[in-house]
Amino acid sequence: MIPYGKQSINQQDIDAVINVLTSDFLTQGPKVPEFESKLSSLCKAKFAFAVNSATSALHIACCALGLGKGDWLWTSPITFVASANCGLYCGASIDFVDVDEATYNMCPRKLEEKLIVAKQQGRLPKIVIPVHLCGQSCDMEAIFRLSQEYGFKIIEDASHAIGGFYKGEPIGNCAYSDMTVFSFHPVKIITTAEGGAVLTNNAALAEKLALLRSHGVTRNTDLMEGESHGAWYYEQVALGFNYRMTELQGALGASQISRLSEFVQKRHKLAERYNQRLADLPIVLPKQHTDTYSSFHLYIIRLKLNLLTKSRKQIFDELRDADIGVNVHYIPVHTQPYYQSLGFTVGDFPVAERFYSEAISLPLYADMTDTEQNEVISILTRVLA
Ligand SMILES: *Cc1c(COP(=O)(O)O)cnc(C)c1O
Repeated sequence: MIPYGKQSINQQDIDAVINVLTSDFLTQGPKVPEFESKLSSLCKAKFAFAVNSATSALHIACCALGLGKGDWLWTSPITFVASANCGLYCGASIDFVDVDEATYNMCPRKLEEKLIVAKQQGRLPKIVIPVHLCGQSCDMEAIFRLSQEYGFKIIEDASHAIGGFYKGEPIGNCAYSDMTVFSFHPVKIITTAEGGAVLTNNAALAEKLALLRSHGVTRNTDLMEGESHGAWYYEQVALGFNYRMTELQGALGASQISRLSEFVQKRHKLAERYNQRLADLPIVLPKQHTDTYSSFHLYIIRLKLNLLTKSRKQIFDELRDADIGVNVHYIPVHTQPYYQSLGFTVGDFPVAERFYSEAISLPLYADMTDTEQNEVISILTRVLA
């Protein structure tokens, strides 16, 4: 099976992890800070905090902004469930903003329409989480402008998007947001097995994030409420979690980040090849906005079902039967049973639902060979004929 996504691990990555095993620190040592400083300089953000997943990163980002009961968090329905669940962890209510027809990212026009209504009803969101689907940035300038007008905070879910650019600047620089979150799950652009990070330029948020990822406990006397009892002393000043990344993961991350631009260039080359070789098929190819340089985490095609005699399921099954590990990203979050039990129904976000009914993610990963890609192209061409 040619998978839809897969990590790339070389000898440098392996050596980095093995060296940690025989070092003094398996956790809370120098490797995670080294990875964090590489992340912040790569992304041009002041602060970076590595944690054990993007889900944890989203959770502490919401906590740092004080999200709680009675607050609203809005995100895109075309995302992984974690982008919405983080709000529920904080006791907040969730709503969604339908996506753009061309990019499948949160539509700023629909966001504005929804904000106008929410303002009248006195239920404006505290936080909006735009998701950079496939690694292509959302229209952050438009979303940021709305945040100034309506007073919400922005967390970019850039789980797909490390190595991408928006208006010539790296995603993660938080120029149009309060915080940006990355995922380092093995199917994403770089990996630490499990792992994630939060980036910010805001020192007050940074202080909160540092506490929240490690029990709310500090050894910094400036943050303590009482006098230190001595060198052993620490204080819990907030309710945090254990969301720390291990040193093994930090070392792997530091090694992987040195390969990031090579990964993204490789993905672009493969995407370009798909664009050329699939151009005549009855499908819609991924559209790229001129403001963006995607990291191409995913290559999603949309089937023109009115020109096809087969259903999406039939086409998907035939590809899988031919050992092409296609996937579908994403089942709209509001249609998940858990979210339906919160009051959402099929039909709430029609653009997202239509996209879902036609989408297929083709295999794409840095180590994909031309032979593997040729196989995908020829089998897809045959199945759609
Ligand atoms: C993968 C992913 C997450 C969750 O990442 P983990 O690191 O697995 O917790 C969140 N949001 C999006 C958009 C993702 O693709």
